[in-house]
Amino acid sequence: MAVIIDGKKIAEKVIDNIKKEVDLLERKPKLAVILVGNNPASEIYVRNKQKMALKLGFDSVVLTLPADISEENLLEQIYILNEDVNINAILVQLPLPAHLNKQRILEAIEPLKDVDGFTTHNFGRLSLGYFPCVVPCTPKGIVRLLDEYDISLEGKKVLVIGRSNIVGKPISLLMQNRNATVTMAHSKTKNLEELILSNDIIISAVGITNIVNQVSKGAVVIDVGINRTENGLKGDVNFELVSENASYITPVPGGVGPMTIAMLMENTLELFKIQEKLLF
Ligand code: NAD
Repeated sequence: MAVIIDGKKIAEKVIDNIKKEVDLLERKPKLAVILVGNNPASEIYVRNKQKMALKLGFDSVVLTLPADISEENLLEQIYILNEDVNINAILVQLPLPAHLNKQRILEAIEPLKDVDGFTTHNFGRLSLGYFPCVVPCTPKGIVRLLDEYDISLEGKKVLVIGRSNIVGKPISLLMQNRNATVTMAHSKTKNLEELILSNDIIISAVGITNIVNQVSKGAVVIDVGINRTENGLKGDVNFELVSENASYITPVPGGVGPMTIAMLMENTLELFKIQEKLLF
């Protein structure tokens, strides 16, 4: 049976370390979160982010804006936060209402305050392997989990299922930077099952339950998916079946999810330190 990767425990360790560091700071990092509209899942995510920020002793502000806000008015809010020397990190909660151009909105964030790492500046640096850069939170959390469990990546065959800008693409870059051989699968990929069986590490970020049902003996399985079902929160992976063959597996909940929020806090602290010239 597979070892269950305890994301909750590792995230708590990260949070404890951040707290110790923040306690010693005179000025506290400040995170600004923009929430547009009232998507119930987004409201929960934003509440959890703010709760964690405050628990850590960060300053935090949430700007709740109406769903019908114009693009120009939203951009104006971002420009104000960009200019505000007291704000160290800016996050725009996704998804945005359909009338807003996501690309234009995310690009408006000052790269030095881009806590999610979604601007072309930070994403470009990540693609080129230029560090430091702001690494998107979920992919960063996945690498941290693998490192904590001493799972080596060099020379490993990694299959990333899903090619989104927030998970699939950045995690594939991080894996390549660590000398893994990466295959990307997506909605048009043929023979997904064959690919799953021929890779050492499977990272699934799709949003469909039971898309991963069988893996090769000893495979490492990272389940990013969050699917709300009548039986509660489920990942993309058929946990019971897959853990029979896998060597390591992340549960849902309690795997990648808690790491995402921990990495958001870590990125906030890093941006603060760069801006305060405490980190170069
Ligand atoms: P997305 O919804 O933007 O894209 C899904 C991807 O899956 C696309 O690239 C698509 O090509 C691919 N896909 C769709 N059907 C497929 C199929 N049949 N076979 C193979 N690939 C297929 O993706 P996202 O925003 O990265 O989110 C993916 C999942 O991860 C969602 O369930 C989301 O809730 C979850 N998520 C979790 C966290 C976390 O912290 N745990 C963070 C971000 C996203």
